[in-house]
Amino acid sequence: MGLIVQKYGGSSVADAEGLKRVANRIVATKKAGHQVVVVVSAMGDTTDELIDLANQVSPMPHGRELDMLLTAGERISMALLAMAIGNLGHEAQSFTGSQAGVITDSSHGAARIIDVTPGRIQHALADGAIAIVAGFQGISQDTKDITTLGRGGSDTTAVALAAALEADVCEIYTDVDGVFTADPRVVPSARKLKTVTYEEMLELAASGAKVLHLRCVEYARRFDLPIHVRSSFSNNEGTWVVKDHPEGDTMEQAIIAGIAHDKSEAKITIVGVPDRTGTAARIFQAIADAQINIDMIVQNVSAAATGLTDISFTLPKAEGSKATEILTKIQGEVGFASLQYDDQIGKLSLVGAGMRSHPGITAQFFACLSEAGVNIEMISTSEIRISIVCRATDLEKGVRAAHTAFDLDSDQVEAVVYGGTGR
Ligand code: ASP
Ligand code: MG
Repeated sequence: MGLIVQKYGGSSVADAEGLKRVANRIVATKKAGHQVVVVVSAMGDTTDELIDLANQVSPMPHGRELDMLLTAGERISMALLAMAIGNLGHEAQSFTGSQAGVITDSSHGAARIIDVTPGRIQHALADGAIAIVAGFQGISQDTKDITTLGRGGSDTTAVALAAALEADVCEIYTDVDGVFTADPRVVPSARKLKTVTYEEMLELAASGAKVLHLRCVEYARRFDLPIHVRSSFSNNEGTWVVKDHPEGDTMEQAIIAGIAHDKSEAKITIVGVPDRTGTAARIFQAIADAQINIDMIVQNVSAAATGLTDISFTLPKAEGSKATEILTKIQGEVGFASLQYDDQIGKLSLVGAGMRSHPGITAQFFACLSEAGVNIEMISTSEIRISIVCRATDLEKGVRAAHTAFDLDSDQVEAVVYGGTGR
């Protein structure tokens, strides 16, 4: 008998039918002799709908109130799920994040978990009950206000609880069968990975793969907690996110684990920046002071004749207007000529631990993009990732071309997208 933490995403509990289906799965796990803790997301697109509603009453809703509103989504699903389980003759108790002991900092909308004290969950389990926990939320240690962990944060709740409870596994249930070599919505011939390492999964998640929340993977790696990503709509074995690929699993030792793409970023180009020591520091300090996370940076060699250079960087589209505003403020001081803002870009990333020991991956990647007619605008790399920026309209074409070029295509259709609007 083990302790299993299961997390069900919004598409798995989109309606009453979904809740009942999930309740059955949970009861089956319990009947198999396990202790079960369930973390649940808001139903379907509830979170998006609540955000839309907030924006209708205020263009800039206060973070504290927005968190209070959004956490209601998870409360609805946790209570309904507990009722559905009760109806199957099993005891379930629901808990808010705060009741479950998820303690965070006070950064509304992007709170970090500081500590997890799951005493009430342990009591519920000791009483033989199934514990249902509202995902994506906690309580601030300082202010005692309700916080949220950022979009998609229920994954992180699940992993954090699993670590605190010393669970045997954290199962993340979603609307696809696991982690695929590319988004099956874009590449129908994508292949399901049996295993993916924490390191690869971190790069994939950071590069736009939405199947797991980045912070949950960081958390799992820190505690060496295995994650099993699988579908709540099938009984198929999913993908295991683990420290190392199992020995001798040749399929999994492919050089490339997968391809991620991201359309959520924009590019800012600062034109005609004087090539002086300290200018880049000044520019990026201003951006950092506004808490804006930037991604890729490219600076050209300055033209000898003019002593001027251009600096481009990418950032989340949502931060675009804030960043241009800040840069405009320091334009006189820094002395650059102008700013360009471009939100029609896409980012394509190739990820694989095998890249370390295989030369020529970059050349092969760029060649396949050129054959597909995709123009590269920016490049960045890590030890196990190569990312490029291209036109948003070329992105999906590029993903498919790279998927084929690196032999990732499956000859049968493995990927079934069971639900979700991908919103
Ligand atoms: N309901 C929240 C969201 O949609 C959290 C989650 O689903 O993990 O972002
Ligand atoms: Mg959701």
